[in-house]
Amino acid sequence: MDCETDEELLELVERARKYTDQGKVASYIPALERAEQNDLSLALYYTDGKCLKAGDVEKKFTLQSVSKVLALALAIMDRGENEVFQKVGMEPTGDPFNSIAKLETQIPAKPLNPMINAGALVVSNMISGTSIHEKLGRLLALVHDMTNNSSIDIDLEVAKSEFETAHLNRSLCYFMKQHGIVEGDVEELIELYTKQCAIQVTCYDLARIGMILANKGTDPKTKRKILPERIATIVKTFMVTCGMYNASGEFAIQVGIPSKSGVSGAILSLVPPSLGIGVYGPSLNEKGNSIGGVKLLEMLSQRYDLSIF
Ligand code: GLU
Repeated sequence: MDCETDEELLELVERARKYTDQGKVASYIPALERAEQNDLSLALYYTDGKCLKAGDVEKKFTLQSVSKVLALALAIMDRGENEVFQKVGMEPTGDPFNSIAKLETQIPAKPLNPMINAGALVVSNMISGTSIHEKLGRLLALVHDMTNNSSIDIDLEVAKSEFETAHLNRSLCYFMKQHGIVEGDVEELIELYTKQCAIQVTCYDLARIGMILANKGTDPKTKRKILPERIATIVKTFMVTCGMYNASGEFAIQVGIPSKSGVSGAILSLVPPSLGIGVYGPSLNEKGNSIGGVKLLEMLSQRYDLSIF
């Protein structure tokens, strides 16, 4: 990997790292608790192939909710926009990512968007394939193409740990199955979803995924269209409106960089048309976003004038 350490970025990381003591590493998935609270790293990947880094950008972590962006892109490629958005909405919720509340008050019981757990479970349910293995293999192939890294695989320990404790996600699925939104075997869907969330990457991989999205779905090096431009636009828009849980509005104002976070402390970010950003910092704030990561992106946005607004 060819990525240079950048002194200015290092300074920002060190400033943002001070906030990591104020957050907490996720523990509701037991295997995530082994993360190191003060870790914070950043990679920037540009369409011209330039890469800048600060911190340990080769450290591995799981995608968690960042996988929702990729699963959504794949499900739309498989089923088309119409079919996907018949089962999941396009509106922010203002509720925590794993909330069940709106499912009962909305008629039909269609999740409000694909970035909350209920919506993401419906999306994973629409990935084509005759087995979990095939569906996951297709999602991994997309990740390999976007990162140009075919060694990316699943952290089976994290997947197992979440599978054994995913009671709330099971409840969401059974509720939606009752209402005809989820189809098929719920245990299989939970297995697929927990494995999807446990795809293991580095900041560098995230930055390259962001770069491909910033570049409208095309790999600038090979000129290969990995995602149709329309699908890249849809997922980027969801990153703005719902990507940072129920802090997405504040994040849009303070940072203004399309981003998707995960409870592992991962943040996938991008600035169209040429920059992808990967951040990892497992200490989370009360909304479930990386506390150091959000600070870091805020500083980065101010220093380099990166807000898209
Ligand atoms: N696998 C996690 C869950 O469903 C993902 C949540 C997240 O990263 O927001 O609880």
